Amino acid sequence: MPMSDDFDRRLRAVLPHVAERFGTPFYLYDAAGIDQTAAAFNEAFAGLDCREYFAVKALPNPAVLGRLAAHGFGFDCSSLPEIELARRTAGELFFTSNNTTTAELLTALEAGAFVTVDDEAVLDKLIAANAVPATLGFRINPGPLAPDFDAALFGHPQAAKFGIPVERLTSVVAKATHHGVRAVGLHMMIAANFRTPEPTLFALDLLTAQALRLGVEVALLNVGGGMGIPYRPGETPLDLTALAAAVRDRAGAWPAGFRPRICFENGRYMTGPHGVLVTRVVNRMSKYREVVGVDSTVNALLRSVVYDGVYHHVTAPFAGQGPAETVDVAGSLCTNIDRLAVQRVLPPVAEGDLLIVHDTGAHAHAMASVYNGRLRPKELLLHADGTVELIRRAETDDDYFATLRFEPETLSPAVHAMR
Ligand SMILES: *Cc1c(COP(=O)(O)O)cnc(C)c1O
Repeated sequence: MPMSDDFDRRLRAVLPHVAERFGTPFYLYDAAGIDQTAAAFNEAFAGLDCREYFAVKALPNPAVLGRLAAHGFGFDCSSLPEIELARRTAGELFFTSNNTTTAELLTALEAGAFVTVDDEAVLDKLIAANAVPATLGFRINPGPLAPDFDAALFGHPQAAKFGIPVERLTSVVAKATHHGVRAVGLHMMIAANFRTPEPTLFALDLLTAQALRLGVEVALLNVGGGMGIPYRPGETPLDLTALAAAVRDRAGAWPAGFRPRICFENGRYMTGPHGVLVTRVVNRMSKYREVVGVDSTVNALLRSVVYDGVYHHVTAPFAGQGPAETVDVAGSLCTNIDRLAVQRVLPPVAEGDLLIVHDTGAHAHAMASVYNGRLRPKELLLHADGTVELIRRAETDDDYFATLRFEPETLSPAVHAMR
């Protein structure tokens, strides 16, 4: 969706100067917008023991993580570098990984993270390492859903790699308590980018039912992330107030003595709408299609090509007057998937104009690659007073060549023969 009017106003006021000074392309995040969303989330759930653990993978930049920590958010990590990053700011750590190794588990526990196991095999690793913590999380896979569930919204959990099949939960938890677990957390996330309360409430209801059945102390219910944002003009946003009211109703109906913390691990919802990718037009080309060539490639925004149906709104705030045109916005990769927008109506843009790719504050820079030698762009933070701060430099050729500097090493055929 076109960015908020507030962000638009703040951005327009500084954009030409910022683009000139820092050079394009770049990601820019709106500190005020991130603060507003974080505060709104906390306000919606005020009075409940409810906390957001920001999914670090969405926007792993310490400047942004620090802001979110100031709102009392914890951090949800699924790799050791993410833990290392989140540790640089205050905030509780979750380690919600999958296909996890023993070394990762041990390091996460050492870092003080609350670990959620995604499979019985991962619990077995903790047992074998004699490292079972007193409180442990379990990710649940609910299996096939009733046919009246919307597959477009919920997917087919039984086809996913995630989670402990719900019918095995009792035996897995029994094994864990036998090895010293005294309290559990229950986790489920089976959908992403949804703009209705249903998937969150489905998770909360299922986790609550399991928690009340297990006969073990339940410290927390983690309903995962996945709360969505409107990417296309006209899409309605998630009704946070309605979601919070429904969560409040359910918590109010819990039996006495059952008071687990309700945890969220949103990424996209918190930062997605508060970021833009800014790129400059470097070529206008008239072929079978009108092509606007820009100085960013889809390397910088891989989600636009790796998932089906992804749309990022594109605008040209400083384009000249004239009739609108239908264009493709393309980068310089030697592959035809390199288009940030396909057959989009834009005002007449010329070489040198700035384009804004909206809603790129989550799963955007974080997914960037260096395919074709097109390096990752810088990240900037727009503060409420108009200050623009560099929070990650652009990659350089030196970074590109860094992994080619190493100690020579070979393994000779003679060595294979000796084994
Ligand atoms: C990716 C992920 C999230 C965040 O997803 P969003 O759609 O950005 O909210 C949360 N939890 C887990 C376990 C994830 O893998």
